[in-house]
Amino acid sequence: MGNGSGSLRLISGVGAKGPACFLLETAGKRLMLDLGEGPPPGLFPDVHGVGAIDALVLSHGHKDHVGGLSLLSKLGNPPIYATEIVARALPEGTDVRPLPVGGRSDILGIAVETGRNGHAPGGIWLRFAIGDGFIYSGDISAESLLYAYDPPPTTTELALLDCSYGSYEQPIASCWSKLAAFAEKGPLLLPVPANGRGPEIALAFFRHSRSDIYVDDAMRTALHRLAGSDSLSLLADAGSDIKRLAGAAKPIDGPRGIMLAASADGTSGMTGHLFAEWEKAREPAIVFTGYVNPTTPADRLVKSGRAQFMRWNVHPRLSDTIALVRSLQAKTVIPAFCDRAQLPALAAALGPARVTMDATIAL
Ligand SMILES: [Zn+2]
Repeated sequence: MGNGSGSLRLISGVGAKGPACFLLETAGKRLMLDLGEGPPPGLFPDVHGVGAIDALVLSHGHKDHVGGLSLLSKLGNPPIYATEIVARALPEGTDVRPLPVGGRSDILGIAVETGRNGHAPGGIWLRFAIGDGFIYSGDISAESLLYAYDPPPTTTELALLDCSYGSYEQPIASCWSKLAAFAEKGPLLLPVPANGRGPEIALAFFRHSRSDIYVDDAMRTALHRLAGSDSLSLLADAGSDIKRLAGAAKPIDGPRGIMLAASADGTSGMTGHLFAEWEKAREPAIVFTGYVNPTTPADRLVKSGRAQFMRWNVHPRLSDTIALVRSLQAKTVIPAFCDRAQLPALAAALGPARVTMDATIAL
């Protein structure tokens, strides 16, 4: 852009897999976009020297986007903008101002348009009316079987986009084929985040006529919420199936059927207990479907060969990103949530847009 509308500072989340944290300065306001922790527990953005901000804006409720709220006292304890679905999961007493899951609103006088991100309950992308447009995707997916994705408006000059998978290209249909093959061999435990791909994978099995689906309390709560208060985030055809699934899923009681339980890495929740019980046993098979965090029980199980990893897409494939960049007519793209080593491949694929990981971008 460079027409003097402000600047965007990439504090964390670009150039290496790390917590999301970006600072948008425009119209005399300082808005932070996401404030995460991890993936490795205890990894926080370096907000030293940032000073007071006017607002924190949250894209969705995953830990690598909201886990850093303990840092807010160093940032002047600003108000938080988030959708009501995301706000419900934040610590009690948090000063939250609601954003719609879709439509136009404003943040401290800056016009913003939001849409559903196809990735998590209450999750959104944000398009700011600054210069010729700036979009922050947060995490997005156009492939979800469960979560609705609203295509962002065209003509957006600057795009900070979820490129978590770099140049990966497998469609979600091939994820399903691989997972179904695991499930045919016998009992299967899937450690999952309950507020993300957990309910989506359960729905895939349910729609393939599996009646032996077992879930922990976190998954059960998530399914009931999706059938009720979180249903705004669902694809139109998913609501009734999720409602039936919420009623049909049984509690986990021994190694049988398809079991889905949180947390995804075994550091907390029911999987922590189940790993202790089943790590030395032959059954059930254990399959991780998301990023395997180093230093967690998940990492140990995969390294020892007791568990397997196969990805279930919850981020865009390269072809999805190419299509999005073309439809936005973006002139500059900042690929987020992947390693700097991906930059040449992404630059080649996304041209003629300029692809950059520079720490500060003029708006
Ligand atoms: Zn996420």
